[in-house]
Amino acid sequence: MIEPTVYELSSPGRHGPRLPALDVPLAPLPDAALLRPADALPLPELSELDVVRHFVRLSHLNMSIDTNFYPLGSCTMKYNPKVNEKVAGLPGFAQLHPLQDAEMTQGALQLLFELQIILAEISGFDAVTLQPAAGAQGELTGVLIMRQYHLDRGDVKRTKILVPDSAHGTNPATTTMAGLQVVELPSDSRGNVDLDALKAALDDTVAGLMLTNPNTLGLFEEHVVEVTRLVHEAGGLVYGDGANLNAIVGVARPGDLGFDVMHFNLHKTFSTPHGGGGPGAGPVAVVEKLAPFLPGPLVAVEKVEAQGPHYHDEDDHHHDEHDGYRLVWHTPSKSIGRMKSYYGNFGVLVRAYTYIRMHGAEGLPRIAENAVLNANYIKARLEADGSYPIAYGERTCMHEFVAQGILEGAPDVHTMDIAKRLMDYNFHPPTVYFPLIVKEALMVEPTETESKETLDAFADALIQIAKEAREQPALLKDAPHTAPMKRLDEVRAARELVLCRC
Ligand SMILES: *Cc1c(COP(=O)(O)O)cnc(C)c1O
Repeated sequence: MIEPTVYELSSPGRHGPRLPALDVPLAPLPDAALLRPADALPLPELSELDVVRHFVRLSHLNMSIDTNFYPLGSCTMKYNPKVNEKVAGLPGFAQLHPLQDAEMTQGALQLLFELQIILAEISGFDAVTLQPAAGAQGELTGVLIMRQYHLDRGDVKRTKILVPDSAHGTNPATTTMAGLQVVELPSDSRGNVDLDALKAALDDTVAGLMLTNPNTLGLFEEHVVEVTRLVHEAGGLVYGDGANLNAIVGVARPGDLGFDVMHFNLHKTFSTPHGGGGPGAGPVAVVEKLAPFLPGPLVAVEKVEAQGPHYHDEDDHHHDEHDGYRLVWHTPSKSIGRMKSYYGNFGVLVRAYTYIRMHGAEGLPRIAENAVLNANYIKARLEADGSYPIAYGERTCMHEFVAQGILEGAPDVHTMDIAKRLMDYNFHPPTVYFPLIVKEALMVEPTETESKETLDAFADALIQIAKEAREQPALLKDAPHTAPMKRLDEVRAARELVLCRC
């Protein structure tokens, strides 16, 4: 057994925390019927040391961004600077309650207000909501806004959303959840949206197109301006899936390319923990004509009329710069309504704000440049070796590229075997079997935060594994050898969950 459960470690009567003596009289609960029998909740009993060691041992079983290179394509698993955590943990942020009055939380509102403006500036849009909890919820928010825009104009025929076949699964799922119909668009031979297929699909029943740029093949849409123009000419709107913003942040702005609405994945581009490491945030940016439909409330500026009593206090000089306005919660006139309780995942917003301010306008383009350079470096190393085919390899990739686990001289070896074997080399496997349009896909996204040494070690490992595949394929078939759990039956593991040893 790798590590017993806390229940197995439990020893009756042992306990960790010692509670301070009561400084108020003991009072019984008002209704004894609310009490549960003492043995009804069988909690484990352990000392503090038992608990700490248990969880530290468990944490060592994890591959994480803090322990290993994590080239998970489409996910942007970059390093999360620890300063983000420090700032999010400041008591003035961490101990706020969402029901506190706006008068008492002007500092937090200012952070949100500035983040709305910063994200609009970075993306080239006019207004931003910070409310959605993740990219997928941002998509739903954006598509509901698109739908409402058409309905508001009395344009009720528009019930279809065009989605390229390279799209993330959340795009068609979002469309369906919004009550609209998915029309799939094929990709052309260079990995772009097929323009002829787009033209053929466009008519007055199309609400819009959902486009990821760069797309999930790691390719910048070569005709993006023409694509957005064609959709607009047909009366549709263009949704931008912003999950790949890391490739272009500070360099190109989706708003300038003709997109009408997009979501950000703050947990990808702006370095807040995700993938089991914490909640995300999926703010949505829109052009001016869609701003009235944003979910509320947003942070807005309200002018304070210079009237009534004006009192001075010792801190007055501190307030002077805010004289004349205050920040308030505001719901736009034609809002689609609320998408999430309160104001979104505030702690995540603080982290993203910290990260953006740390990099500043000069630093943001370096993120994109290095992310693209790092991906192209690994791609070039694999091309020089020649073992792995690379989908659309003739093109320069953006922040990620898609290799294929199809190795000459190793017909029985598949992408899954290569991914598992990488764990023996202490690398988190890349994304596998996505995007769906590439056979045996191995999708690599190194991000900008990795050193040349790490990139080389990863390329070396992939090349070495290709050699093993030809010479000792069993090494791959039985991998991982060093992980605490060996090859699992993944379907059974997902379908027949065993959550306790009861
Ligand atoms: C990650 C991702 C999403 C979904 O975002 P979540 O924040 O995980 O909900 C959508 N589209 C693409 C291309 C993605 O990579």
